[in-house]
Order: sequence, then C-alpha cells, then structure tokens
Amino acid sequence: MHSPMFTLEVFPPKRNAPVGTIYDTLDGLEGLNPDFISVTYGHGTHSDRTATARIAHTISKEYGIPAVAHLTALYSDKAKIDEALDMFEEAGVSAVLALRGDYIDGEQLVGEFNHASDLVSYIRSVKPDFKVFGACYPEGHYQADSLDQDIENLKIKVDAGVTHLISQLFYDNEDFYRFLDKARAAGITVPIEAGIMPVRGAKSVRRMAERNASRIPDRLNTLLNKWGDDIQSLRAAGILYASEQIADLVAHDVDGVHLYSMNHPATTRRIWRNAEPLFRGTQG
Ligand code: FAD
Repeated sequence: MHSPMFTLEVFPPKRNAPVGTIYDTLDGLEGLNPDFISVTYGHGTHSDRTATARIAHTISKEYGIPAVAHLTALYSDKAKIDEALDMFEEAGVSAVLALRGDYIDGEQLVGEFNHASDLVSYIRSVKPDFKVFGACYPEGHYQADSLDQDIENLKIKVDAGVTHLISQLFYDNEDFYRFLDKARAAGITVPIEAGIMPVRGAKSVRRMAERNASRIPDRLNTLLNKWGDDIQSLRAAGILYASEQIADLVAHDVDGVHLYSMNHPATTRRIWRNAEPLFRGTQG
C-alpha cells in the first residue's frame, strides 16, 4: 500500500477493438503496483455489461492487483443490478464504484435508481460484504446548483454506505483543496482520492471541460494555445503538468491520487516515474 494511495483507472476496449488490447494496456502497466485498478462501466442499454467484470477478474487474478468495478444504475432495474453484482462476485471482485451515470438523449429512464445514493443503499442491502466507492466533484457536479448543494448530496451518498471517494478530474489543485475543506466541514470523513487526467489533446481537454462544467486554468490554457497543434509537445507538457499536480497533492498530504490512465500505459509510466519517489511504501 502506498502512502498516499496510488490507484489507476482503465476502460474496456470499444466493441469493435480486438479483445487483446486490454492485455496490451495491462502489460504496459505491469510493475507500477497501484493499490487498485478500477474498470469503468459502459453506460446505457447498448453497452457490453460483461466487459467490466471480465477485465476486473483479469486484473485481480492474472495480474494480482486489487480491482474495483464501476457500475452505473440510471438505466437499470434491480434485476439488472443484481445480475451485474453477481457477475462481479463470481469474478472475485467485491469492490464497486457505485454511480448514477449520465442521462442519454432518447433512452428510456427506468426510475428505480435516480441517484447514486439509491444504488449505494441497494448494494449495502444485497451485498453487505462489498466495499462501496463513490464519485465526487471538486468543482461541483455539472447538474448541481452550487458546490455546497453538491456536497450536501454527497453527504447523503456517503451516509448511505460509501467508504471511499474518487474525484472527478481537475486541473487546478486549489479547487480540490477548497472542496476537501468543505467536504470535511460537512462531516464527510472517508478517504477522498484526487483524480488526475493527463492532457493528451487540446480538443479533448476543452470538450471535457465543457461537458463537466469544469475550469481550464490560465497555466494550462497557455500550454493548450502553444502546443494545441503539436501533439508530441503537448503530451510532453501534459506529463509535466500532471506530475506537478501530483507533487503538490502529495505535499498537501492528500489521501490518494487516482490516475485516469485512459489506457495509455506509456504516459502513465512516465508520470509514475516522476512521482514514485514522493510516495512511501513503494518498492525499489
Ligand atoms: P450522483 O451522486 O447521483 O450525483 C449526480 C447529481 O445528482 C449531482 O448533481 C448531485 O448533486 C445530485 N444528487 C445526488 N444525490 C441526490 C439526492 N439524494 N437528491 C438530490 N440530488 C442529488 N460514468 C459512466 O457511465 N461509467 C463509469 O464507469 C464512470 N466512472 C466514473 C468515475 C469517476 C471517478 C467519476 C467522477 C465519474 C464517473 N462517471 C462514469 C461519470 C458519472 O456517471 C457522471 O458524472 C454522472 O453525471 C454522475 O454520477 P454520480 O454517481 O456522481 O451521481
């Protein structure tokens, strides 16, 4: 176990991608020894609902790293959630990141799980031995009226049984520290990991910032303006930017750093090479 925690996130390959690509990702991450790897869950009714369980199983059984399976609930009824939870259990995975998921235009809502907190309570009741994680938003969730209101709702989710929070990505650590102070003042005491996503393209950063109603600080905007059309330079600058964010977070004694690997092991390795000496409990 690292101190602070160091964890990674991967996603199942797209439906038309060769099955083996996830092995390339996991092989590429070998030796980093994160405290866990979480696996995202396809949203909506058309996604392959078995992929998360299969990959989480591979991570824990073949690579010997604890796995956390994401699970979204907005478009599921209890029977579908039971099916997913049983699949996780059979795969030897007993840690779930319980999510509401995003609204999808044109898809019929089911109405059984309107908030992640509904899913958290349900998992606690049907799988009391599972560890339940939740998501949080340093700049406030895009549908919340304010950060304070979002934190009030977050408290409901934690009280429903979440024992570990992972944050949305952010590019200005001050936003994370402000959120942390408010969350602690609201009585949220569970560990809160800081979500860091390395910059890999100017367009994707801007698109994601717009979708999540999150801020691109001036310092990052300068990099995007300078190297927006020079992908190699921007990626090099992105690795430095993420590494600096992590150094500052560790210096502030955060509970953990959750790196969104985006299935890019080379970038993840370079960031970890920069940051590893700052984490205690590492080997080598
Ligand atoms: P909630 O906690 O339900 O919050 C959503 C909104 O509802 C917020 O505005 C909140 O303030 C409000 N709210 C919450 N509870 C209440 C309440 N009781 N009463 C009134 N309002 C309330 N999406 C995927 O599809 N697949 C993934 O694998 C995935 N992984 C993610 C991992 C992380 C770490 C994060 C941060 C996000 C992830 N997402 C994923 C995206 C997530 O599904 C969206 O951000 C979604 O919009 C919100 O999900 P949530 O679980 O945070 O929702």
